[in-house]
Amino acid sequence: MANISLEELPGVGPAISEKLRESGYKDIMAIAVASPKTLADECDIGEKKAQDIIEGAKMYADVGGFESGEDIMERRKLIKKLTTGSKAFDELMGGGLESQSIAEFYGEFGSCKTQVCFQLAVNATLPEEMGGLDSEVIMIDTENTFRPERIVQMSEHLGVDPVETLKKIHVARAFNSHHQILLVEKAGELAKEKKVKLLIVDSLTSHFRAEYVGRGTLAERQQVLNRHMHDLLEFATLNNALIAVTNQVSSKPDAFFGDPTRPIGGHIVGHTATFRVYLRKGKAGKRIARLVDSPNLPEGEAVFTITEDGIID
Ligand code: ADP
Ligand code: MG
Repeated sequence: MANISLEELPGVGPAISEKLRESGYKDIMAIAVASPKTLADECDIGEKKAQDIIEGAKMYADVGGFESGEDIMERRKLIKKLTTGSKAFDELMGGGLESQSIAEFYGEFGSCKTQVCFQLAVNATLPEEMGGLDSEVIMIDTENTFRPERIVQMSEHLGVDPVETLKKIHVARAFNSHHQILLVEKAGELAKEKKVKLLIVDSLTSHFRAEYVGRGTLAERQQVLNRHMHDLLEFATLNNALIAVTNQVSSKPDAFFGDPTRPIGGHIVGHTATFRVYLRKGKAGKRIARLVDSPNLPEGEAVFTITEDGIID
């Protein structure tokens, strides 16, 4: 998306930019796709003026181009796979989690979403022969649940130096949804200096859920969340990285989505995530992962176990 403000468009001063914003034209893309008549009516400006503003917006809007299937195939050849630590889980995911994609793990409290994140973080630092990405990891922690002790336990189990592993995991706490969004930008900067093939956001939706309360806020929440997802997808593509995000299901009916077993964020998150995995509790440390949505894999389930050593079969 073009990174310019409305005021930078030719012919748009403070008065017009205010009218634009008030009428819901908050970014360049929204203006670029508007019709002159509608824009003129809604913002109370002349139609000729509206047309000029739209032309300007089209020049700045980053619409992107078309790529040949061959180019996309070439890019897909670069995809790396990351092991989950469990053979069954890896098989469910077509041999591991893929770079250039977003994997969403959703489930109730205690379903092991955070443990999966820890395990992926540790695994990503491993060499490729061990199913890793030989990479550093960025973790955006919104619930203050990062525990270095768990990283140490999992590293020891794999026979790698826990201190070296911890050094490669870069954690930032996000204090609210805006902070969370800005941290993705920061992550992009860090990824220019270091090899980052895994970016984790645990939890993707908790701040959004807490901050946007009440029906009237749904549209805005979804819009901001949509942007955030696209920033993440861009990170994945630019860095040939995997994005792992977690999402809660509400145990009590969500104000927005009546069904209590639905993940937060509805289709915005669902449509942008490449793989959706539903996690639920089984007996005695067992967890069931269900692949719910994938562009190229069948639906199915895998059972894994959570132990002190991490995720195993
Ligand atoms: P959430 O889905 O809410 O993020 P977590 O990933 O925090 O859930 O999972 C918590 C579960 O992980 C606990 O219920 C416990 O069963 C398991 N767990 C956490 N630490 C350990 C450990 N050291 N040994 C075994 N199991 C653990
Ligand atoms: Mg958690």
